[in-house]
Formats: sequence, C-alpha cells, structure tokens
Amino acid sequence: MATNRTFTMIKPDAVEKGHIGGIINMITEAGFRIVSMKLTQLTVADAQKFYAVHSERPFYGELVEFMSRGPIVAAILEKDNAVEAFRTLIGATNPADAAEGTIRKKYATSIGENAVHGSDSDENAAIESAFHFAGREEF
Ligand code: GDP
Repeated sequence: MATNRTFTMIKPDAVEKGHIGGIINMITEAGFRIVSMKLTQLTVADAQKFYAVHSERPFYGELVEFMSRGPIVAAILEKDNAVEAFRTLIGATNPADAAEGTIRKKYATSIGENAVHGSDSDENAAIESAFHFAGREEF
C-alpha cells in the first residue's frame, strides 16, 4: 500500500551550484508539502551507512566521497503516492535519460552527480527519514 511520504536529499553538487531554491520551488510547485527540512552534511560513515545497499557496486567509493563532500538539504515530503510521484518528478538516475521537466534534467550533470535523491520504496522512505529526523522534527 502506498503511503503519502517520501524522503529526499538535495545533493552536494546542487547545493554547491546554488540550486537549493530552484529545486525546492519545483518540489512545492509539484504539490508536495514539506514535513521536515534541514541543511546538514553526511560524514563518510553516514554516507557509507546510507548507501550500504550499494556497497558491492564499483561506484560505491565515489558515491560515498561525493555525498560527504559538502552540505546537503534533507527533507521529508508529503503527497498522495509520494514515492512514485517524486521518482517521476526527479527523473532517471542518468540525466541523459531524464525526461523534460524533471529535476535531474534541469539540474543534474552526470549519473553520479545527479542533484537529488528520492526514496525508491515506502519502506526505504521510512528508514531514510528516521536516519535524518527525529519524530519531533516532523510537522
Ligand atoms: P537512484 O535511485 O536514481 O538515485 O539511483 P541508484 O539507487 O541506482 O543509485 C544511487 C546513486 O548512486 C545515484 O543517484 C547516483 O548518485 C549514484 N550512482 C548510480 N550509478 C552510478 C554510476 O554508474 N557512477 C557513479 N559515480 N555514481 C552512480
């Protein structure tokens, strides 16, 4: 059953380039309500844990280095069928394959530095939200 919440990060590449405002605008224009939001930074250990599912992939080291190199914006978002709706809004992992009108089409530069994260299941949305936010930070 779909829940109405998902988890996102605006990744270090997009924060470095000054795209926080543009991305949040696309998110709210698409009808998502912000439940939680903060500017924060992953340590190397945080990034290793967050992306542990990818630990056997050849790009794991690069991914951990990238995701811990600077600040990110972490957020919990709410909308009907949020996980699927947000995956549609962000577009394909590789911006070369991302549809027009998606966040990655507009702001991502490569398959690695692709501007935003979006949870891929309701279960992971809950795990990832709890990784970043205490219950009292959800509004
Ligand atoms: P997502 O669900 O669309 O974010 O994609 P995945 O779960 O497959 O990958 C997680 C993240 O790992 C992606 O968003 C990218 O930042 C990174 N990534 C995926 N594939 C590659 C790759 O081939 N090279 C590098 N450097 N990073 C990758």
